[in-house]
Amino acid sequence: MAVLKSVVLRGIKRTFKTAGGRRKIPLVAGHKLLYRCNLTCDMCPFWRRTDEKLLGLEEEIKIMDSLVRAGVLFYGFEGGEPLLRRDLPEILEESHKRFHTSLVTNGWLLKNRIREIRDSLEFLFVSLDGIGSLHDRLRGANGSFARAVEGIRASRLSGLNVAISFTITRENMHQVEEMVHLARNLGVGINFQPAFNYSTAGALSPYGAKLLGALSKLLDLKKAGAPIVNSQDYFRSVINSWYHGVHWTCKPWLTINIDPSGRVVMPCYVLQEYSSDFDKPVWDLDILSFWNTYDWERYEKCNKCALSCYAEPSLFSWTKRATVKDFILDAIIFYAEKTFRGSREGEKEAIVDDLARTRLPIIN
Ligand code: SF4
Ligand code: SF4
Repeated sequence: MAVLKSVVLRGIKRTFKTAGGRRKIPLVAGHKLLYRCNLTCDMCPFWRRTDEKLLGLEEEIKIMDSLVRAGVLFYGFEGGEPLLRRDLPEILEESHKRFHTSLVTNGWLLKNRIREIRDSLEFLFVSLDGIGSLHDRLRGANGSFARAVEGIRASRLSGLNVAISFTITRENMHQVEEMVHLARNLGVGINFQPAFNYSTAGALSPYGAKLLGALSKLLDLKKAGAPIVNSQDYFRSVINSWYHGVHWTCKPWLTINIDPSGRVVMPCYVLQEYSSDFDKPVWDLDILSFWNTYDWERYEKCNKCALSCYAEPSLFSWTKRATVKDFILDAIIFYAEKTFRGSREGEKEAIVDDLARTRLPIIN
């Protein structure tokens, strides 16, 4: 329960910083550690970028310290493929001292590196976009489904909290229910979000009656207790916005996104996909004063994307019982179960030792 305690304590401090909700303070931070990737997913713009500039551990720590000062509680690392970085374990270790820390990976290298990162993570997301050959085709690499599933199994055996991250495209939306069954069989959660048609990516964004059917099915499964990470409100809000013209209020200021070179991507990484408003790295920025002078209002009705890292924090409200249950009570139950369930350390160590033997093809 230590993780909950530290998040709760930092949350109380953060509440004071907001001055009773009058000041805007980022709650969640997402950081692309690199754009490079070992896969070439059709719907992804990031592996195609050529302007990557990586930071070292010292600068990564400077980012973290500035985020702590700004009041961030949750820090998520993504890419590109973060496991390509040799210094990832050190970066995660530093993050773990300061934040509730999560990582998104495509799972290709996960089985081999799980031992190095497992103790520094509160949550791990592994991307899977279909069953078997469909996933391999969308990811551009044969064997990527099998490797990701092996990585998920190894992570579960390491005692990590794991969820599948599923990007809904027009190619895979018929498999959403099968994916929920897969998650249940693997003993992990699953998070869904519709693909966004980035400028340089394949236009795979889903739409129409089929997407409505998939989102409605997921809402029903969630209500019936399936291990779906998204809140019920997420599915309801996306359906209401895209099919009934009732917008949800986007609050991109709750999520601060930082590019590989340490710059803040404003107002969100969807709208500033290929540029940054600032040349300054985040550690040279007075985040709070900038956050409270920026014109956020014009994005409130945007609803262009349904990225859960922006939508879910925007939708949370203490006055909505279902969201409090989905975000707070379920999380407490989840961590309590994990703490009191205990662990079979001997068995875990043997498997992780076995998995760690292969030499790793990593950069940096
Ligand atoms: S694995 Fe992730 S970062 Fe890599 S190409 Fe696919 S979506 Fe992009
Ligand atoms: S809904 Fe619009 S403003 Fe909000 S995160 Fe998506 S693209 Fe950005």
